[in-house]
Amino acid sequence: MNDLSPTGCTNAPVLRERGQHEVFCGLTGIIWLHRKMQDAFFLVVGSRTCAHLLQSAAGVMIFAEPRFGTAILEEGDLAGLKDANDELDREVARLLDRRPDIKQLFLVGSCPSEVIKLDLARAAERLTDIHAPHVRVLNYSGSGIETTFTQGEDACLASMVPGLPATDAHNLLLVGALPDVVEDQARDLLDRIGLPQVSVLPAPRADGAPSVGPNTRYALLQPFLGDTSAALDRRGATRIDAPFPFGEEGTTLWLKAVAAAFGIAPEVVDRVTEAPRARARKAVAAAAETLSGKRITFLPDSQLELSLARFLTRECGMEAVEVGTPFLHGPIMAPELALLPGGARLSEGQDVDKQLDRVRADRPDITVCGLGLANPLEREGLTTKWAIELVFSPVHFYEQAGDLAGLFARPLRRKAILSGAPS
Ligand code: SF4
Repeated sequence: MNDLSPTGCTNAPVLRERGQHEVFCGLTGIIWLHRKMQDAFFLVVGSRTCAHLLQSAAGVMIFAEPRFGTAILEEGDLAGLKDANDELDREVARLLDRRPDIKQLFLVGSCPSEVIKLDLARAAERLTDIHAPHVRVLNYSGSGIETTFTQGEDACLASMVPGLPATDAHNLLLVGALPDVVEDQARDLLDRIGLPQVSVLPAPRADGAPSVGPNTRYALLQPFLGDTSAALDRRGATRIDAPFPFGEEGTTLWLKAVAAAFGIAPEVVDRVTEAPRARARKAVAAAAETLSGKRITFLPDSQLELSLARFLTRECGMEAVEVGTPFLHGPIMAPELALLPGGARLSEGQDVDKQLDRVRADRPDITVCGLGLANPLEREGLTTKWAIELVFSPVHFYEQAGDLAGLFARPLRRKAILSGAPS
């Protein structure tokens, strides 16, 4: 780990761009959220395009009774010829009749429902009145207008916060949807540190929803949960400031921050995590042989960019050329910015043509970007990594640190093999 100035990129200038952007929309989040919430159903109120996106993104994962679907807005709805609310009510009644296992129904807004100004908040209230207490109906937007794909999870979790039970207890809440096996690892580490009582948002079932109140301390698991964080703050909860648990360093600092919030000394964390830290270091070192000295650019996409740049520069020896992020949540990202080595160009938002010009001028060894930009860049001889893979793959905490580094090393090794050069 490099010993760097304590302020890193804290005061670095940020290039702010507002132009054409190329990212997936927030509907994508349904693909991982529906697996976490076992009695929830996501009903996208959208067009055939939305249905196709979900089907192709979910691919083979759809089987038996899926936990998401699309209420298609037909031409008559879009032209305002029919009352889309009546149709939505009928569709929801049919769905809940057929699926008594559904306890939480999310009406998910889309570009078409936004364009015709369908008021899904009011629809959710009306449908809750009709179907309570068996089903709670919530709504959020997954529209691709001015949003990026990880905002779908943020909007979904934020929609749940006002309805969480109240408590005055001193409790710890983890926020973010992780694969079950990774969530179990986090719980196990916290348990061994002395924090056995941990709740998680989202909970697997509606009746296990976490309680929140003025004595709740919460730790974000993903950097893209700014709206959820603001909603929890409004409930009186306090965010635990920390870098995110990516890589050995990020995980250790995250655990120490959580421990400190409950009066547990950092030495306890050091003792409990000695073995997994050693495993993570060893696994990362294998990939770092390929990554060390290589230059990387992140185009704004997943909102994980700053955290990943911190991990790759400090633990894998890479050099960050440009770190672009769709949104830079200052307070949430402050611990990451403080660790990120100075010298990287920081950018927020996107103006895709200008950004691609900078990539062509910089010619980094690897560029992390969306699917739509990867192919053209590869054709120009640049190596790319799809940002969306970083959200679909288990990458948090110690046991996944080597896999996370490996996700960046693989395309570089492939390129070296194809070109006959040493990696
Ligand atoms: Fe396309 Fe918008 Fe539907 Fe997403 S919400 S699939 S961007 S139409």
